[in-house]
Amino acid sequence: MKDQSAKVNCAIWESMVDTLEVGQCIKLSNCRVKLFQDEKKLSTTSSSECEVFIDDIVLNELSSDDEDIQRDEPAAMPDMASGNIYGIMEMDPYISCPKTSCYNKKMVTLREKDIKLYFMFCNSCQSRYKTNSCNNYLRAVLLMNSNGNEKKITAFLPHIKKMYESRGIEFVFSFDRKELMSSMMNILPIEVKYSLVNNTVKNLICKRLHNE
Ligand SMILES: [Zn+2]
Repeated sequence: MKDQSAKVNCAIWESMVDTLEVGQCIKLSNCRVKLFQDEKKLSTTSSSECEVFIDDIVLNELSSDDEDIQRDEPAAMPDMASGNIYGIMEMDPYISCPKTSCYNKKMVTLREKDIKLYFMFCNSCQSRYKTNSCNNYLRAVLLMNSNGNEKKITAFLPHIKKMYESRGIEFVFSFDRKELMSSMMNILPIEVKYSLVNNTVKNLICKRLHNE
């Protein structure tokens, strides 16, 4: 868990685990703190309470895999493997930094104390933006079968759009995860050639679907 000032390892009790997702903004109370080799560790107990923030976001920051690594896509693509994308683990729509050099870094939502105003902040360029000047972006965690191995891969908006195009379907952005899931299910499975960097799709070629 982390906030603006620090981060801490936190052991979560079994019953609470399923209610939490990476990237959620939560408030944990009644926890136990242990000091071990100068490091504080947090642990929930049976009386701990967890509050998940949905609309009234104070701070919303994601793990470091929330940044599109897509930089310069080379025209020649050696070392591409074949795979079949057949499932979805996660569709994560978010607001990203409009500055090109930030590569669609996921924005943090901050709220001024005691005022209802909130603003978007980019941790890469350390700048504030209004929501309507930011980009809508999307990260998907997909399941792929590649030479008999099951893999979890992360794809960002440009590659997701490619998958839709290969099916002749126009991608429509939404902040509704369920809507994104069901629309994505309609275009799967897709046969692809791909290359990855740290499980994130770097290059992608989709096999076009011809009328069957
Ligand atoms: Zn930025």
